[in-house]
Amino acid sequence: MIIVKGIGASPGIAIGTAYVLEDDEIVVKRVEIRPQLLRAEVKRFRDAHKATMRDLDTAEAKVLKFLGKEHAKLIHAHRLISSDILITKDVPLRIMKEGVNAEFALSEAIEAVAQQFEKMDDEFFRERRHDLLDVAKRLLSHLLKKSRRTISAPAADSILIARNLLPSDTLNLHGTRVLGFATDLGGKTSHTAILAQSLCIPAVVGLSEASRQVKNGDSLIIDGRSGLLIIHPGLDVLEKYKQLQEKERIEEKSLDVLRGLPAVTMDGKTIHLGVNLDSLEEIKTVATLAPDGVGLFRTEYLFLNRPTPPGEQEQTKIYSGVLKGLDPKPVVVRTADLGGDRLAALGVSAGQDEANPFMGLRGVRLFLRHPDIFKIQLRAILRAASKGGYARILIPMVSSLGEILSVKNLIEQSRAELKKESIAVPEKIELGIMIEIPSAALMLDVFLPHLDFISIGTNDLIQYLLAVDRINEQVAHLYDSFHPAVLRFLKMIIDSAHAQGKRVGVCGEMAADLKAVPLLIGLGVDELSVPVRLHLRVKQLVRSLNQESLKEIVSQALAASESEGARKILSRECL
Ligand code: PEP
Ligand code: MG
Repeated sequence: MIIVKGIGASPGIAIGTAYVLEDDEIVVKRVEIRPQLLRAEVKRFRDAHKATMRDLDTAEAKVLKFLGKEHAKLIHAHRLISSDILITKDVPLRIMKEGVNAEFALSEAIEAVAQQFEKMDDEFFRERRHDLLDVAKRLLSHLLKKSRRTISAPAADSILIARNLLPSDTLNLHGTRVLGFATDLGGKTSHTAILAQSLCIPAVVGLSEASRQVKNGDSLIIDGRSGLLIIHPGLDVLEKYKQLQEKERIEEKSLDVLRGLPAVTMDGKTIHLGVNLDSLEEIKTVATLAPDGVGLFRTEYLFLNRPTPPGEQEQTKIYSGVLKGLDPKPVVVRTADLGGDRLAALGVSAGQDEANPFMGLRGVRLFLRHPDIFKIQLRAILRAASKGGYARILIPMVSSLGEILSVKNLIEQSRAELKKESIAVPEKIELGIMIEIPSAALMLDVFLPHLDFISIGTNDLIQYLLAVDRINEQVAHLYDSFHPAVLRFLKMIIDSAHAQGKRVGVCGEMAADLKAVPLLIGLGVDELSVPVRLHLRVKQLVRSLNQESLKEIVSQALAASESEGARKILSRECL
């Protein structure tokens, strides 16, 4: 039996067998081909090329049928690149002249052109570079007879083991029989971890080298709460975990009595306790929980795993469904926070290949660069609001006043357009921003007159304040929500908003951290929005707290010079 300690990313216990995912990186080796075999090598390349063209034909026909001509253009561009002589002629020529394998000749040919595209100071050509690399990937996967990574069909009751899982991969796990996953990379507040919680999949991340120790079919246990991966567990350990699994199930069930009750502290302070909606699959569960609203609807997931972004009609339908489902409670629709580790095919150059994607073209920055795509989403939210329900709009990754004013301008443009189309958009839709970049926190007094509410995104705020990448397991120990700087910053934000009579919500993972909830309540937070799965647990805790005494305890914790001190004060007093 081997026990590997990582970072608990999504609670719960999974017992199953290993399904090891190959890394999707395709490494190309240079292999010398004997002269008499060169023609066969060229033929191998031509066969792969034909198969790629067939793939693209099928994809184009599918997109044409389901999404229309406009969207099929993207695939058509890939077909044109694939038929370009740089691929059809140059690669066979390189194989023959240099006496090398097809993969190597292909990657050399592609690299040469990609570099030329990279140098061009023109967005159109830079975008073509992505298309070129995508085509190359398709060709390579045929040459290597290795499919592009999809995780749609792991065996039943399996536990996925991978070096890394992207949020888009994790979304794909829904509806499969995957019981849990463990990855070498990743941190506790990575989007992959958050999605795993939403999909109720126990997960451990940041295991460093664990994926190398596991083979397909190995018997495994994932302990998502303690962050453990157990390989080849002994019978006694298996038995212990089965019992623990049952205990957790009973505990969860006992929380059912709290459904529909208010999240009010012992001394009468009502906390607006909403849920975070990360995937549409959760909507059914949300309705049965009867929360105070949706405090964060992460709409970016609607844009992943598809060749083109969702259109206005499609988005309207989804938002309207959620708004009506929660009516009359508020639903905070956050405009898509794409970029960082959540990359979508937008049909425009959209932040791919950045050296520091989390500090790059992400959230509102990306959408203000592409106002047409942004407006489709804003129009869809306004349209949905005209059909009933209570919509609020939230903007991610704001760092300056100019961004707020630009968004307001686009909202007004969209409203005017819809009015012309005789759509009865409500006169007032509340607008808020995520406070997740330190500059926004520091400028809050200037921003607030333009806003109706704010929501603190602690996941990003902590990463940007402490300069600790939230998905990097190497620095996970430095990602500390009790760091004195975090405590002081939160106090400053909350006091600043209250001074102008604005409500403050927290929608980052800290709002669902049972150790941090007393801190947030003592600091005076008005709203918490938490993963669906933890909603009742947080409610139970809130109902056991006393805000007045917490205010006093928190003022002591704020004086601590190290996080340990603050933690100790809070845990001593809150027990
Ligand atoms: C946050 O940053 O705290 C947040 C809620 O947004 P996300 O996790 O989607 O970045
Ligand atoms: Mg964020």
